[in-house]
Amino acid sequence: MSGLNNSDFVRLLEIIDRTEKERRSETADHFLRSVSQDGYGDYAGSYDRVVSGLIFAGTEPDLIYGNVYIEDDIIQEIEELNSSQIKSKNWIVPRFINAHTHIGDTLLKDPPLGPEMKPYAYKRDLDSLVKPPNGLKHKFLNSLSTDEAISSMESAIWEMYQNGISVFADFRERGIEGTAALIEAHKNAGRDIHPVIFGRPTLYSLNAGSDLTSSHSFLDELRDLLEIAGGIGVSGANDVDEYILAKVASKTHSKRKRLAIHAGEKDRSDIEPALALDPDLLIHMTHANEAELKTAADSEIPIAVCVRSNLVTGVGLPPVLNMLDAGVSVCIGTDNVMLNSPDMFEELHFLSKIYGITDTVLFKMATSNGADALGCRFTGSIEVGKKADMMVLNAKSLNLKHVKDPLAGFIRRARADDILGIV
Ligand SMILES: [Zn+2]
Repeated sequence: MSGLNNSDFVRLLEIIDRTEKERRSETADHFLRSVSQDGYGDYAGSYDRVVSGLIFAGTEPDLIYGNVYIEDDIIQEIEELNSSQIKSKNWIVPRFINAHTHIGDTLLKDPPLGPEMKPYAYKRDLDSLVKPPNGLKHKFLNSLSTDEAISSMESAIWEMYQNGISVFADFRERGIEGTAALIEAHKNAGRDIHPVIFGRPTLYSLNAGSDLTSSHSFLDELRDLLEIAGGIGVSGANDVDEYILAKVASKTHSKRKRLAIHAGEKDRSDIEPALALDPDLLIHMTHANEAELKTAADSEIPIAVCVRSNLVTGVGLPPVLNMLDAGVSVCIGTDNVMLNSPDMFEELHFLSKIYGITDTVLFKMATSNGADALGCRFTGSIEVGKKADMMVLNAKSLNLKHVKDPLAGFIRRARADDILGIV
């Protein structure tokens, strides 16, 4: 069914088990240990690392000069000092949470955007680009060898790491093989960046009522996928048989995994059925009306917006201000690598310029809101007890020098090439 034999699958489960244990030992366990210690001992010299500069502390954030003390990758103490007491004025910022990606199409960086409408312009067409099963993306993914898939995703993971991203949530197509390839790519990259994988069954577009044997295969595939992935990422409620979709949702919930779904990207027709599934995360909601946004807010379902992607595919701009009005927790995704580079700085520039959203709210959208949405509360802000997922930005770069309001400078102007180092 999946092309993997039993021993491949056992080996894969071992990799996941090991990776999960490593992750937990780096995060939750250390978190508990660190906060349950009696005091923090002698500060001086007792920590692994100290990072000094202008710290973007907390979720709002508070900008303070001082030191961040780190041990076992956990922030042990944040010491506030007078600016004259520290040499470095570089900015210490939490790394980004990229709440929605598809890195499987990394090898398709220059797709045609659509048919030529005029000699000088294309007619953008979302469906011909990405709609399953016949959109360009899916044909391309089917043509990739496993090695090509793994090595290209490895390079996207590297790129995201260098762009200051600490967690990315990927909609991984191609069933168990696709998820297995991403796990392998992440292992090969060997970077301190955490994937949340939303796998996608290959067989779920079949008509369950007409083929019970295939339906049985589908349930096997779903069960195996839920073993190895963090959850299921559904391409859209209109793409999937209603019965199958209900099964996907109930099995995902009962396994305590996450259900995420694209909704309202091209029009409103798939929003209501998506909301009915009680997903953990909605993607896009570009055409959502106020009532639908209120339902999302009341049900505490976060929304990942992908503004640059929506611009490339020509579907319109998401009503981000209405989302905030309704009380939705909004986070940010860079979406398909084939459409945009996985660069959260660029997303922030666009969001700031298009909507005029305040710097503080945009900061939360790119960091702690994403961590909350993905269940990664071990990171997403610089706070004692959290994982030290930070980037240090060069306050003296040509781009950032003369900035008087560092939060505004970070949101509206900073770029990946301002990063001096990743902590
Ligand atoms: Zn997407």
